[in-house]
Amino acid sequence: MDSAPQREEAPQGRASGSRAVRPPASEAGRRRLFPEATDAEWNDWRWQQRHAVRSLAQLERYVPLTPQERAGVQETAALFRVGISPYYLSLIDPEHPFCPVRMQSIPVQEEARIRPGELADPLGEDKTRPEEAIVHKYPDRVLFLALDTCSVYCRHCTRRRITKGGEAELSKDQMRRGIAYIRNHPEVRDVLISGGDPFILSDGRLEELLSALHDIPHVEMIRIGTRVPVCLPMRVTDALALTLRRYAPVYVVTHFNHPKEVTPEASEACQRLVDHGVPVENQAVLMRRLNSDARIIQELSHVLLRIRVRPYYLHQMDVAQGCEHLRTPISKGLEILQQMRGHTTGLAVPHLAVDLPGGGGKVTLQPDYVVERGEHETVFRNYKGERYVYPEPEETDCSCPYDEVWRARPR
Ligand code: SF4
Repeated sequence: MDSAPQREEAPQGRASGSRAVRPPASEAGRRRLFPEATDAEWNDWRWQQRHAVRSLAQLERYVPLTPQERAGVQETAALFRVGISPYYLSLIDPEHPFCPVRMQSIPVQEEARIRPGELADPLGEDKTRPEEAIVHKYPDRVLFLALDTCSVYCRHCTRRRITKGGEAELSKDQMRRGIAYIRNHPEVRDVLISGGDPFILSDGRLEELLSALHDIPHVEMIRIGTRVPVCLPMRVTDALALTLRRYAPVYVVTHFNHPKEVTPEASEACQRLVDHGVPVENQAVLMRRLNSDARIIQELSHVLLRIRVRPYYLHQMDVAQGCEHLRTPISKGLEILQQMRGHTTGLAVPHLAVDLPGGGGKVTLQPDYVVERGEHETVFRNYKGERYVYPEPEETDCSCPYDEVWRARPR
């Protein structure tokens, strides 16, 4: 059941369902909001960082705020910071409070309310944090928390206990201790660098970290979680892409939530990475009234595949404090998957994941297609609801005899 609306309903004649899709508005928004910015400034990610909008007074200059938003900025001031790059701000629809870019970057009053069951550390990371920089929850991989800053502070951020500020960029000593922890744990084969947003680090600092990780023989792959291609695409320079390529395999895991975010600039950033041999995957978060519709998720998947970004996860919203107004019921994600599976390319259908509150880890969900499970056959329904029978084989021994030889090979 919907709670009370936190944003005013759509203006007359502009209901989101009836609106025609328009081309990306970054250019028009830039001319309207930052007419004095030169091309060189606009395309300089450091200029964008310096000119990020961080206060109510600044925001009021650029966007006609609703009363809910104004109260949201005021009442969340002590809880979580506001910060919006001029680029991302330029994508905001000033006339529509349900604009997905706006909903992700401008708080509403509901965000200041902490509901029962909401957690400051919804994924239980702090109890598996042996070093300031390290979260070690799963057996073979760790999370490396490199800094607490981002290009935009997302209103749905799960890690807001860190990104609200106060932890800053890791000191040299903290970084060294994080690296030493990984070096001393040979079971760690996969490192996910996150934060904050690691692409906010300078090229030099990022390279220092990548190089140290790359030198650890048991680290087989590095992933970087970043929203920079979405919110600050000018940061993805050739120099950055080349740096990532040098320490391959490095996977970039980005975070587009709505097709409106896939602008020409964002597309170029992703394609630059892919052209340099850096695979890009997307993890979207399902958010109520923002992208909670199969049509939107399918369009997002299609535009991502067109720019060679693989739609990987669709996350059920974590139970982070202040996010309840954006959470969907579990059934909505399943319904979306059901509407997509079979109706579009399998690669376009993301895994629906729930990260269990308190640190239980991720589980994935999918609609149940099994109608009956028997000893000799399994009965399924397909995406059209038709029944099909899959016969079981007579032999059921699934051990792999060659595996002993394979595992004993010289390495
Ligand atoms: S970019 Fe990521 S870490 Fe930063 S505020 Fe957004 S969701 Fe949180």
